[in-house]
Amino acid sequence: MSKRIKIVLIIACLLINVTSVNTDYIVSAASGQWIQDAATGRWWYRYSNGSYPYNQWEKIDGYHYHFDSDGWMQTGWLKVGSYWYYLDTRGMDRPEGARIASDWLFLGSESYHFDSSGRMQTGWHYLYYEEYEDENREMLWHFFDSSGAWQTDSDLPGSSQGHNTIGNNLFRGAGNVKYYVESSDPNATKVIAGFNGWLNKSPYVSISRVFTLSQANVKVSTNQASNDTYIALTEFYQDEFFGYDFNPEYGDWFSATIRINPSVILDPYIMPHEIGHALGLSHQFTHSDSIMNQLNPNVNRTSPTSKDLSNITYMYH
Ligand SMILES: [Zn+2]
Repeated sequence: MSKRIKIVLIIACLLINVTSVNTDYIVSAASGQWIQDAATGRWWYRYSNGSYPYNQWEKIDGYHYHFDSDGWMQTGWLKVGSYWYYLDTRGMDRPEGARIASDWLFLGSESYHFDSSGRMQTGWHYLYYEEYEDENREMLWHFFDSSGAWQTDSDLPGSSQGHNTIGNNLFRGAGNVKYYVESSDPNATKVIAGFNGWLNKSPYVSISRVFTLSQANVKVSTNQASNDTYIALTEFYQDEFFGYDFNPEYGDWFSATIRINPSVILDPYIMPHEIGHALGLSHQFTHSDSIMNQLNPNVNRTSPTSKDLSNITYMYH
């Protein structure tokens, strides 16, 4: 029985027994009782032995609830340890206060998703998108930013012109990409193949390998990314010396570093994809004809597609 139904029953009881108005409202549950404070409307839970949960999760009738240090049931966003949870307040899919798990949360203009333990997810996840009708449900890759907000094409800069560019700014070295990778790098062969995938594809991008770091404007190395859940990272610099990490949404950049996580095996599309970032392409989510699309990536793709090249032309023509 959901708590919404219990609330309906409480109201019915009040109509019958007016003298209970100034007492706490009591609802029966399996191993104890939900009790609502008459003055504030807040809920707590009393076990059958008289004690109550506080500062903890408790599973009640199949749903997880969290209680604060005084034992009050909590609602809305809650951070426990390093994870965010959402204790539902919307009274639609689950009782008030129940933790959302393995489900989406559509809140205001943002969408979020929670794993089977109720943890808000960030980064890429392969999920059903619940807004589709059942017959159209399909598993897709979805991206959630560091705040947990689901990202769509329309969230991305450049999308207003139909292009998935990081911003309206340019990689000053695009016309003459000079990349450096140590021959001893464990991914050197794949790195070289990735750049060769871009070779002679666009009149606005020329590619050459240099063997001295000081000559390079793109540096590639296999070392631990700052967040080891990433396959690879592209970083941008405002000068030629890989000196200052820089947000390319704010202005032109002069050099880039691509860092590959040593604990992953690179699919062929990863390096061409990261090179796309270095050139100024962002992720996008609807055009399957793009190496920047990770919703359903063709992991064997080895070079930019017509969509990617049209974006490069848009940026650098
Ligand atoms: Zn990427």
